Amino acid sequence: MSVSTGSTADQLALNGGVPAVRGMLPPMYPGGMRIGVEEEAAVLEVLRSKRLFRYYGPEEGDSKVGLLEDAVSAKFGVRHTLAVSSGCAALACALAALGVGPGDEVIVPAYTWIASAAAVLMVGAVPVIAEVDDALTLDATDAEERITSRTVALVPVHMRGAPCNMDALLGLAARRGLRVLEDSAQAVGASYRGRRLGTLGDLGAFSLQFNKILTSGEGGLLTTDDSMLYERALMFHDVAAIKRDDLVVPETFIGTTCRMSELQGAVALAQLGKLDGILADMRAKFASIRHQVSELAEAKGIVWRRQWDEAGDACIALIAYLSDAAQAGEVARALTAEGLAARVLFDPDEVDLHIAYHWAPLGSGRGWSARTPWDQDSDRAGLDLASCPRTYELLGRAIHVDVSPELTAEEVDQVSLAFQKVFATLPDP
Ligand SMILES: *Cc1c(COP(=O)(O)O)cnc(C)c1O
Repeated sequence: MSVSTGSTADQLALNGGVPAVRGMLPPMYPGGMRIGVEEEAAVLEVLRSKRLFRYYGPEEGDSKVGLLEDAVSAKFGVRHTLAVSSGCAALACALAALGVGPGDEVIVPAYTWIASAAAVLMVGAVPVIAEVDDALTLDATDAEERITSRTVALVPVHMRGAPCNMDALLGLAARRGLRVLEDSAQAVGASYRGRRLGTLGDLGAFSLQFNKILTSGEGGLLTTDDSMLYERALMFHDVAAIKRDDLVVPETFIGTTCRMSELQGAVALAQLGKLDGILADMRAKFASIRHQVSELAEAKGIVWRRQWDEAGDACIALIAYLSDAAQAGEVARALTAEGLAARVLFDPDEVDLHIAYHWAPLGSGRGWSARTPWDQDSDRAGLDLASCPRTYELLGRAIHVDVSPELTAEEVDQVSLAFQKVFATLPDP
């Protein structure tokens, strides 16, 4: 295709030109858009068996949830997988497994879905935010500065499908005696130096909510190599787990109920079979767009989000930094006019719960009861929302575009053309 480096401002769709993207691009539900006969058959099988609960039913036989757990363990190369009701539940089970509770602090990045912080509160501990680096993932150097005598764990979040700097974070955790819970909710199947995300720290947590790479509508997964952590998570996720006769953990406790149903397990198992294809498609489309746009982007001084492991990135989104928030806003508007839903990742005036700046109730230390974890052996009055200016500055000049695995070759070229048209109108650095 022709590279429109000669493009001028009046050719932009924003100024009345022909939009680069002709039709509607596919919505960004990677697994959701691939729901097909496999999921239908699996759900029908469960319904016909009348066994909707993982632990028993009128028919004997394998539980779909159990089969899902075994399949995830095999695919990701991890000893134990526990399927639960949501990603938030997986995080809470993992924290409970680690023994995190009142009086403890857990470091989460200021850019993550709010559930990463909410899960810490669920177990009665205090979340502390730290800055992200230019990969938009937890910055190890900044996280270290936030460690206090109460800090027990780090929650690196593999945001928008891309791995954190796990060498630095695992090194920090080892040096300071902290546990690591990888929030891999947005990065199912992605990896870091050949190892699947969620299997590098003490525990991993995944989401199967509809917006994620694989989906069962709602659902979550927890992974760990540690049998004791697994059994503790099992007890937290099933209030009746202490009745089991196969537990070896020396201390039992009563947890909650956030089990996965057989219907969700059936869908998730069918989705797992599609993971390789979804990842391969997103990666190929991401690479093609980057290839078509990179030279021009570089000439204009545009910097792509850092990738700590290029090959491991799930490639669900293209993220690029512009020189400032004003330019990012203009570029996002121009791209959107070209038919490409582009957005700036942070706007102080628009509430987006992926950014700590907008977590107002946590900022004032408010919870669901008059007493909160901040009242419990804590010197903090709430989450210090103003303490991560670098994160807000980076997100404020970052533009974000989804990379759907469903993009056709034609759409990939149209998306690339949209970037070319808009970038070409920017001043040289
Ligand atoms: C979606 C998400 C979660 C929570 O998952 P749910 O299934 O919605 O509870 C946690 N962390 C991150 C980073 C997420 O994107």
